[in-house]
Amino acid sequence: MPTLEEARRLILDHSKTLGTEAVELVESLGLVTAEDIVAPFEMPVCDNSAMDGFAVRVADCTGAARLRIVGFIPAGATSTVQVGPGCAVRIMTGAQIPPGADAVVPFEEAEGGEEYVRIQAPVRVSQHIRFAGTDVRRDEVVIPSGSVIRAPEINIMASFGRSRVLVFRRPKVAILSTGDELIAAGEPVLAGKVVDSNGVSLAASVKGCGATVERLGIAPDTRASHVAKMTIGLQADIFITSAGVSVGDRDLVREVLAELGMTQVFYGVDVKPGGPTTFGVKDGRMIFCLPGNPVASMIIFDELVRPAILKTMGYKRILRPRVRAVLQEDVSKKPGTIKFMRVRLESRGGKLLAFSSGDQTTGMLKTLIRADGIALLPAELSSFSAGDEVDVRLISNNTIMLES
Ligand code: AMP
Ligand code: MG
Repeated sequence: MPTLEEARRLILDHSKTLGTEAVELVESLGLVTAEDIVAPFEMPVCDNSAMDGFAVRVADCTGAARLRIVGFIPAGATSTVQVGPGCAVRIMTGAQIPPGADAVVPFEEAEGGEEYVRIQAPVRVSQHIRFAGTDVRRDEVVIPSGSVIRAPEINIMASFGRSRVLVFRRPKVAILSTGDELIAAGEPVLAGKVVDSNGVSLAASVKGCGATVERLGIAPDTRASHVAKMTIGLQADIFITSAGVSVGDRDLVREVLAELGMTQVFYGVDVKPGGPTTFGVKDGRMIFCLPGNPVASMIIFDELVRPAILKTMGYKRILRPRVRAVLQEDVSKKPGTIKFMRVRLESRGGKLLAFSSGDQTTGMLKTLIRADGIALLPAELSSFSAGDEVDVRLISNNTIMLES
């Protein structure tokens, strides 16, 4: 049985990008560039003013200089008006610096009338001028291929006049929940029945990665329903099944997938919860069989499935951040297996403290809701004491409270 790291390595060895497509910039957030973005022109395009004020000649600004105002350049305008000796031009932020001027004096440092302006403070050459090309040079690779697109990347591409960008294609991820006990979310909940909540949360998590979701609903524990739904699922780039892989299960999931041509890469990972997790491949497609238990399903999604989805999207940084935190209680566990412990994090005295978020039984969903992170208690140890430092994987973005 592979360790967590070995399982992730085996999975990532099979995660490949899936070709490229051009998308609108507004649709590109979170995708990864598949082309170098080269500046078609320099930025700023021309020398321009960083302030509202007066474009002047520094040589004129000695003592309490009084300059004649010979023009006005609003933002967005160009001007050929020459700033001659003893002259100034009223200029707005972003407007092109007129010929002859070598500095801008902000309004706050000038006493301006309609015709004349008096300069109060000393003036330095080039002050408040943004020179052409100081941000970006023409032909410079501003965004190399393989970059995650965030707002700044979109902003600079838009400022180059682009409306589309070539990115690695989003994978299509099919999700199938299995189990006779399942009913679809929204149906009346009867005793003995279980709502297919995994189908909903897996779909949301897949979407959260930026991938496209195909929901296949529920397959009851019959061979025919498994074959029908799994045949569709195996057309997707990535196929995730829920439940039916635990010890004691009739093992329909693995059996039918094997019949349909899946090559099993591993069955079981040395972790708890999530031990029965299975991974296979078929024709370059990845298949994840997650345990039905919701807590296991969500933790394994984060540890093993999400990194694989992100890698197929071209991401290089695919793991959520891990922090060191000081355990606040004694914990014992089975040796030989990594234990995922749900913890709350608090920052105190410059250290992160990890508190158990409550009952750690796999069936307890509320303790995952309360958790800020998952402590990865290493396989080789079986007992931990309050005060021990442990690795904690953050499970959402803003998880650490400010110190009060
Ligand atoms: P299994 O992996 O089939 O042994 O299921 C383990 C536990 O997870 C059982 O309590 C199931 O009822 C529950 N379960 C299975 N599938 C789902 C699902 N799609 N949504 C929520 N809970 C589930
Ligand atoms: Mg079952």
